[in-house]
Amino acid sequence: MMRRIGVLTSGGDAPGMNYAVMSVAKAARYYGMSLIGIKRGYNGTLCRSHNIADDMVELDLDTILDIADQPGTYLRTARCLDFLKPEMRAHAVNNIHEMGVEGIVVIGGDGSYHGAMELCALGIPCVGIPGTIDNDLAYTENTLGFDTAVNSCVEDIRAIRATSRSHDRPGVVEVMGRHCGDIALRAAASTGAEICLVPEVPWSIQEVADRLCRLIDGGNPRATVVVAEGAWDSMQPTDWQHYLMEQGARAHDDSAISTEYLAKVLKYKCKAEARPTVLGYTQRGRQPSAYDSWFAFEAGNLAVNLLRNGIGNQVIGIKDGRVYYMPIQMALQQKREFNLSLYNMINSL
Ligand code: ADP
Repeated sequence: MMRRIGVLTSGGDAPGMNYAVMSVAKAARYYGMSLIGIKRGYNGTLCRSHNIADDMVELDLDTILDIADQPGTYLRTARCLDFLKPEMRAHAVNNIHEMGVEGIVVIGGDGSYHGAMELCALGIPCVGIPGTIDNDLAYTENTLGFDTAVNSCVEDIRAIRATSRSHDRPGVVEVMGRHCGDIALRAAASTGAEICLVPEVPWSIQEVADRLCRLIDGGNPRATVVVAEGAWDSMQPTDWQHYLMEQGARAHDDSAISTEYLAKVLKYKCKAEARPTVLGYTQRGRQPSAYDSWFAFEAGNLAVNLLRNGIGNQVIGIKDGRVYYMPIQMALQQKREFNLSLYNMINSL
């Protein structure tokens, strides 16, 4: 029976992380275990701050209850490149033992899961909760924060479409998702956007311009193009890049290939006042949706129960609408399946 467990948030922050920590704290108290909050991802395990409270601190349930609904993460999050070094991980394990922490709940993305797997190999049982807005983990139907991020995009895209409609002009909206187009796909489907661009499917500016021109000619001058931030990686080179050069910009400079650039080319090609908007970090800063809060609540409770029963090396996810767990390694080996039929539906109807 464990007497003390730890919890950390790592990788990019995601709405619902605080709610998951609250759920862990509730379950820990219920089972008579004390809970240590490990600060700034794996950095806290290295105990390099002047004040131990900046590395590991006993969490008080009442404090966590007060901030449970807030976006961001009370425990803070940060990269910890030192954690990639075996000698630093050995040092971390010593600190964890010294603090009397017998198991850890790791809330983060796939990088954080690799860190958790390493800790498990060194004898510290860990259970992962998929805290990332990207929805880029194959073993779970939703990652924690994804639903909130999509809702945030939907609210903003609706606002953009209202002004697009009023002025009869197209909008180009960039949403998050570096390697995964799920936010763009779900947000586009939920707002009636006419074009969606994602990193999983190659596309060209020529095609997008042709489609937008056809929409305009067909009587829709106010279409919305939703672009995932990683979609620039799947863009195929076309003659339209020369347009940028004609304009005196540097076509080979990555920073030139942007939502503004796409809007500029569409403006030139379709003779429409296409307006660019990059939604950026607003997508991470909303209060967790009911769905994400529910998932965080069940996941936190399940994580504590697994550790309590001596079951580590697991990650928690959603399958067929239910919260479940599976071994970390197996989860990381699963291949993501992109929803191509939804993508085609958005882009062809
Ligand atoms: P995410 O968890 O959102 O994917 P990162 O990829 O930045 O975010 O990973 C978060 C942290 O997890 C890293 O800064 C590092 O501390 C730890 N980590 C990532 N990969 C490994 C690994 N292979 N071994 C040990 N720790 C890792």
